Formats: sequence, C-alpha cells, structure tokens
Amino acid sequence: MGYLAEALSQGFTSGDGPFTRRASGILREMLGAGTALLTTSCTHALEMTAILLDLQPGDEVIMPSFTFVSTANAFALRGAVPVFADCRPDTLNVDERLIEAEITPRTKAIVVVHYAGVSCRMDAITEIAGRHGVAVVEDNAHGLGGSYRGRPLGSFGRMATQSFHATKNVQCGEGGALVLNDPDLAARAEIIREKGTNRSQFFRGQTDKYRWLDIGSSYLPSDILAAQLTAQLEEFDTIQLRRHAVWNAYHKGLADWAASNEVSQPVVPDDCAHPAHLYYLLLPDLRNQQALIAHLAEHGVQATFHYQPLHTAPAGLRYGRPAAAGCPTTEKVADRLVRLPLFAGLSETDTARVIEAVLSYEVI
Ligand SMILES: *Cc1c(COP(=O)(O)O)cnc(C)c1O
Repeated sequence: MGYLAEALSQGFTSGDGPFTRRASGILREMLGAGTALLTTSCTHALEMTAILLDLQPGDEVIMPSFTFVSTANAFALRGAVPVFADCRPDTLNVDERLIEAEITPRTKAIVVVHYAGVSCRMDAITEIAGRHGVAVVEDNAHGLGGSYRGRPLGSFGRMATQSFHATKNVQCGEGGALVLNDPDLAARAEIIREKGTNRSQFFRGQTDKYRWLDIGSSYLPSDILAAQLTAQLEEFDTIQLRRHAVWNAYHKGLADWAASNEVSQPVVPDDCAHPAHLYYLLLPDLRNQQALIAHLAEHGVQATFHYQPLHTAPAGLRYGRPAAAGCPTTEKVADRLVRLPLFAGLSETDTARVIEAVLSYEVI
C-alpha cells in the first residue's frame, strides 16, 4: 500500500502522527540535528524562529535582499526590521564582507539563504555572529542535501528552516520544517508549534492536562502530507541523481555558448557541494533576460526570472532598510537571471531540447 493510502487507512490525519515521526526522523539523520519539527511551510518555520528569538519591535535582522519574501516577512511580522545586504556576484549569496558594517546594538540575528543550494561562506558568517553575540538562522529552503566543507547545510545555524513546497527538491505540496541545532530551544519550539500549549507533552503522558503557556500558532502539518513527505525523503537519492543529471547536462552543454556570449553560469566553490536545486544563467542585461525567456517560450520551454530585490519592493521600503552601501549587485542580478526547467522527471530528450533552444538564442 502506498503511504498516502496507509495514512488515510490509519485514520490518523491530524499532525504529529506516525508519518510525521518517520519524516522528521529521516530529516534529523540527514542534518545531524537534535530536533526537526515538521511545519506547514518554510514560511511558518521562519515565523517560529522569530518568536524563538524573542524579537521585539525595532530589533534588526540582517539578511540578503536577493531572497524570497518569506525570509523578511517572518521577522517584519514581529515588528523587527529586515536590513538588506547585497549579494556576492559569483554565488549570489549574501556578501559576508558587507555584514559586519550593518551590525548595531539592535541586531539580533543574521539570516542566510544558500542560493540554489550553494553554501554561503559559513566560516566567516559564524565568526562575525559569534563575535557580536547574534544568532545565525539558515533559511535552507534550497539547501537540503548540500554541504559546506563536508558539513550539511542546515546544521550551521542555531536554527534552520526547510521548505517542502511543490517547487523544492523534496516536496509534499505545502510543507516545511524547523531544524534546531540548539537543544535549549526544543521545549519552547514544541509549545509555539502547538498553539502555545504543552499539548505535545500531554500526548507523551508528561503532564495530565495541557494549558496555554506561550504565544504560538497552528504550525503542524497533517500526517497525510507527512506520508507524502516520507516517501519523497526515502527516494531522496534517486531524486537527486536525476536532478544532478539535468544540472550537469545544462552546465556542460551550455559552457561554450555561455563563454562566447558574455553569459555567466552558476559558480560552485570547491568547498561546496550543491543539491542541484536550480539551474540559472546570467544574461548580459534585462533586454537579453526578457528576450531569452520569450525565445524559450516560443520553443515550448518555460524559463523564468527569479527574486526581485526586497529592498526596493513596496513592503521592503516600508518595513526594512537597505544596507548603507545599497544592493547594486542584487539589482543587476535580478535583471539578468534566467532559470531553466529542472525537475527529477525531466527526460534526457527534453533536457537536450532545452539546451538546443538556448543554443539557438542569439544574444543581442
Ligand atoms: C520556497 C522558499 C521559502 C518559502 O517556502 P514555503 O515552504 O513555501 O513557505 C522561503 N525561503 C526561500 C529561500 C524559498 O526558496
């Protein structure tokens, strides 16, 4: 019987059932983490990190401008101010050399995003955070299966968040996880995730009633979703093999074309192993970005741009502030980046078709 049918036949469809335990067990093992709590999304896991850090209005959180809105939203919801730092031109990750200048007495955390699953410079970032006594949170939505100097992404931050949204390598439609690398946070995290109650302790027989103890919300996914997630996590190696095959085919097949057309391919430093989360090209400018996307659409290939800078977004202007140096690289990259289709089910023939379609584009 498939796991979904099994989950339904067991009749345990709310959160924290048998499949939730299985999926979080696999995650803990993959990351070497003490605690992995499944959540309804990465967005919600990020909201939990903001509650766990006791962020107060006016506290500051340094993060990249080149990221998904949830990275910032989760902290803005608590009244904290996202401080947007520029990205490195090579990996497109937050530039660690720009972080320290933004630290103030109100800085409470540095949130990193490993873009495309290629690690940020975690040695430098951990050192800066340690010296200033601020927490590191990893928004590891792209990074499951990636590593930095042999250590898994998601294991560096005091907390890390995972996404199992349908667009991610491992997915259950909508889902996420909060990974805790600090055992002191585990008991409170469990309470925040259960509407601010000690219901989890109650079900383990550790208390005879459960009560309202803290702020929190309903962050548990249904065990039906956890069943799909368990199946995906058990097939992780197969999924990754396919994704790497597509990524490598693009990288090799487009190398000469890119080099002779002033197009940049992804940069993966030697001490990083990436999980083939996405494949992108950096075109010379906005005109070429739009023209390549249109050209590929004409050839039946769906390609897309990616993050629009948060520091210039309407809500970014209202709730956050850019780093003093601004984010010029982020602005340029957003106008140049094109993502190619990448999923485990993309056949060799279709991958070759995508490559052919890109090769037939003439840079203007
Ligand atoms: C996908 C993504 C999220 C949000 O994930 P959800 O599970 O959809 O909430 C957050 N941050 C980054 C970097 C992402 O790519």
